[in-house]
Amino acid sequence: MLNIKIEQTTNPKPIPGAENPLVFGTIFTDHMFIMDYVAGQGWIDPRIIPYQPLELMPSTMVFHYGQEMFEGLKAYKNDEGKILLFRPDRNIERANTTNERICIPTIEPEDFLQALKEIVKIDEAWIPTRPGTSLYIRPFIIATDAFLGVRPSNTYKFMIILSPVGAYYPEGLNPVKIWIEDEYVRAVKGGLGEAKAGANYVASMKAQVKAHDAGYSQVLWLDGVERKYIEEVGAMNIFFKIDGKVVTPALNGSILPGVTRQSCIELCRLWGMEVEERKVSADELFEAAQNGTLEEVWGTGTAAVVSPVGNLRKGDVDLKIADGGIGVLSQRLYDTITGIQLGKMEGPEGWSVIVE
Ligand SMILES: *Cc1c(COP(=O)(O)O)cnc(C)c1O
Repeated sequence: MLNIKIEQTTNPKPIPGAENPLVFGTIFTDHMFIMDYVAGQGWIDPRIIPYQPLELMPSTMVFHYGQEMFEGLKAYKNDEGKILLFRPDRNIERANTTNERICIPTIEPEDFLQALKEIVKIDEAWIPTRPGTSLYIRPFIIATDAFLGVRPSNTYKFMIILSPVGAYYPEGLNPVKIWIEDEYVRAVKGGLGEAKAGANYVASMKAQVKAHDAGYSQVLWLDGVERKYIEEVGAMNIFFKIDGKVVTPALNGSILPGVTRQSCIELCRLWGMEVEERKVSADELFEAAQNGTLEEVWGTGTAAVVSPVGNLRKGDVDLKIADGGIGVLSQRLYDTITGIQLGKMEGPEGWSVIVE
């Protein structure tokens, strides 16, 4: 149990009204959670303070060697005004897996959950309730030793900030166009691919820009060795429905284990569908498209939940998936997961956590 000190803001900001589109990641609430780590003392001084800038020395390690991790999850309000978190235990477990990989000290899962609940409660009034909106929660940790040498830091800051976000697709589910990248790679086995670390994102930017310039919204990464097998999209995992079966790349060490990915797999199996976690080559997809068995393609991630893919481009070929519309299964997964998140539908045990 953390003993969280609370300093309320004396200068609350106006809460965005219904006219505000809540563009993702642009608006932050009145408070933040912060806790320090000092080698020999552990995690100390948990506190909630007004949202404010940090003061750090230019030599602070995170600026130079990127020892940083983050998580992303959402809070919702149900019809009775209760606050719901979606599978926070999965994010907490993954956070500690990331921490282990990049030499950041782990956080007690109960303390992590308590911090999430407390900060969300303090800024509860910021949870938007219009369809498709939610409060995005961004926990993250930075290395804070003021030292220019390569080794794990002895001090860290764990912070949680909150951002009300609008519907990812204001007009409802919209198929996206995806670029299969065959020049740059995001991650390799043994690297950081399965950790949620900022370093993975900087590795992805060059290809992201390239894809955008060509009119595609996201990059689909191939494996870093053979450049043959599908891994995942920029910030989403990827699924295919091929000849009636659900297929998704197996977690191989370079793919981020998404909570939404796991939830889709579990739901499809509950619905009696066959789900294969295995290697999928880009060639297999193009063949399936040609013989008419590539029925649906969709991405999964906390931000968009389920994102139907309308086009896949590789080299000079642009593949239109099933007329570029929204697949029946993609829509069902979206409706079910968002239904559970909003407390309108009952999900499997433990998926919805009430914050009291
Ligand atoms: C966060 C993330 C995902 C999606 O994970 P969720 O837990 O479903 O939000 C997928 N790929 C990458 C690279 C990510 O960083």
